[in-house]
Amino acid sequence: MNRLLLIVVVLGLLGLPLLPSTPEFWITHLNYVGLASLVVLGLVLLTGVGGLTSFGQAAFVGIGAYATAWLTTAIGWSPWLGLLLGLMLTFVVAYVLGAITLRLSGHYLPLGTLAWGLAIYYLFGNLGFLGQYDGIASIQPIEFLGISLGNGRYIYYLIWVAVLLSMWATRNLLDSRPGRAIRALKSGGGMAESFGINMASYKVIIFVYAALLASLSGWLYAHMQRAVSPSPFGLNYGIEYLFMAVVGGAGSVWGAVLGSGLILTLKDQLQNVLPKILDTNYNFELIVFGVLMVLVLQYARDGVWPILASWWSVLAGGTERRRIAPPPEAPILTQRSRPEKASLVLEVDAIRKEFGGLVAVNDISFSLKAGEIMGLIGPNGAGKSTTFNLITGVLPATSGKVKFLGERLDVLPSREIARLGVGRTFQHVQLLPTMTVLENVALGAHLRSKVGVLAAALRAERGDEAMLLHEAARQLQRVGLGDYLYEQAGNLALGQQRILEIARALAADPVLLLLDEPAAGLRYKEKQELAQVLDQLRHEGMSILLVEHDMDFVMNLTDHILVMDFGTKLAEGLPAEVQQNPAVLEAYLGGVDDDFTPTDTSSDVGRDIAGEQA
Ligand code: ADP
Ligand code: MG
Repeated sequence: MNRLLLIVVVLGLLGLPLLPSTPEFWITHLNYVGLASLVVLGLVLLTGVGGLTSFGQAAFVGIGAYATAWLTTAIGWSPWLGLLLGLMLTFVVAYVLGAITLRLSGHYLPLGTLAWGLAIYYLFGNLGFLGQYDGIASIQPIEFLGISLGNGRYIYYLIWVAVLLSMWATRNLLDSRPGRAIRALKSGGGMAESFGINMASYKVIIFVYAALLASLSGWLYAHMQRAVSPSPFGLNYGIEYLFMAVVGGAGSVWGAVLGSGLILTLKDQLQNVLPKILDTNYNFELIVFGVLMVLVLQYARDGVWPILASWWSVLAGGTERRRIAPPPEAPILTQRSRPEKASLVLEVDAIRKEFGGLVAVNDISFSLKAGEIMGLIGPNGAGKSTTFNLITGVLPATSGKVKFLGERLDVLPSREIARLGVGRTFQHVQLLPTMTVLENVALGAHLRSKVGVLAAALRAERGDEAMLLHEAARQLQRVGLGDYLYEQAGNLALGQQRILEIARALAADPVLLLLDEPAAGLRYKEKQELAQVLDQLRHEGMSILLVEHDMDFVMNLTDHILVMDFGTKLAEGLPAEVQQNPAVLEAYLGGVDDDFTPTDTSSDVGRDIAGEQA
């Protein structure tokens, strides 16, 4: 958001209670908005960014509230200790619940959160020492530097400082190494795992983060209200928080405050107005909310915030200025040691993959040395991409072995294989279209830094971040995308997106690079530039395994070629040998596969294949 607007909002918020003319109910109302904003902010990260829907956040508010209520009344501890213990308890509960429920996918996850949300609610209502459905009363106010925050105008400051700090931390987190991983969660995460990112653990991390924010809100609530009972921590509130996130705009931290403010204000107004219109005292506002929800989902999927933000940017004088300069120079990240030239890097031994009755890869064996480019060619459906997926651990092999620098790969998950130094691109481009080109490539360098969530949230990792971004920019310049650093990745042409994937793989500092049809969609000159980059990498000792349909490209670049057809090895050898091999000619020219049409008769195999994009 625009800096000026930010300052105005913050000053306005902080100045409001100072004006004696500000009515008390405004302060109370804003206190509730702040409390809800904390919970919804957690949902922004969890649901909006991470794609994990939780109906159970109110239960975590309850844990924070009940923990401090019980500790301060039954034991007489200070509210600050109540906060500490409440957060610790929430951490443990969220960690356990997260580890169990986050394994669920699709609609089972929200159902799981409904289940434990209900369970915790009934626990509050049934535990004798928590006062059952009467709850706990006479909770003491928070004291800060000797000032009692019993008055609504005083606790207002604590609430809104907590909200603003949490927003700051959440924004920091999203703009960091762990944040890029979190933003990759929604896309399914298979790609991110191929860069060594443990997606399951990031799910637990954002789940715990969101729960801690909810618990903080509960602590403030308990000491503001001075009493707790189970009802505000029930499922209907869990649903309401989610509703606030969706209405506000679950993708941005300001959406949390906006959504909370809109919904609570509307609720308040409806409770005043509806009984007068309808002449009843029933809770008709729920019906209005239901209708509103449908309208929002229909007309403003991303919530209200993005709409406001775009109006503001028009008002503030056109589009935001793009950052043009590359990220500043920073020390180069440490590189892994490379195997000696011509030493054995990859050994594939009778690898096999069956999909039901189909043998997609039929006992294929080959090896690859350091500083060598090997081509893997064959008609569509020959099993080339499947072979890649077996080597990189994306698919488990039916049988056979893969060894990389002496280590068995076929027993490892893909993120461990990435850690050993295997980088790859995908035949069907897999990048995060709304992230910048630079951020997409920085995601590839994930394993080359250790920055954690806490350092990122506190922005104590700028040095490491600068190194990651500098490395990403360096790789992008190397492959010729230096002019597109801050472009959204989804805006690039398809051929450029493939090149971006190469830069991303290079950012991981691999020893072995697997490229699945990197030249598809490139123009002649771009192909030549790509060939130059790959040749340069070979000189630096990189091993490259290349799947490509452009025969000129393959024949000119590779040291060694393996031809596959129907999962089976058809031929193997130097490019010139393979070109003359009768079995290969038969497969390519004998009408075995319609996809292979000669376009250049000057050499036997020197031709493109019509319909490159399978
Ligand atoms: P290529 O990359 O050489 O064009 P693939 O490795 O993608 O070929 O596919 C080889 C064969 O395996 C094809 O017949 C394809 O339909 C089949 N196949 C690939 N992936 C799967 C899968 N996940 N499930 C079932 N069959 C698959
Ligand atoms: Mg393929």
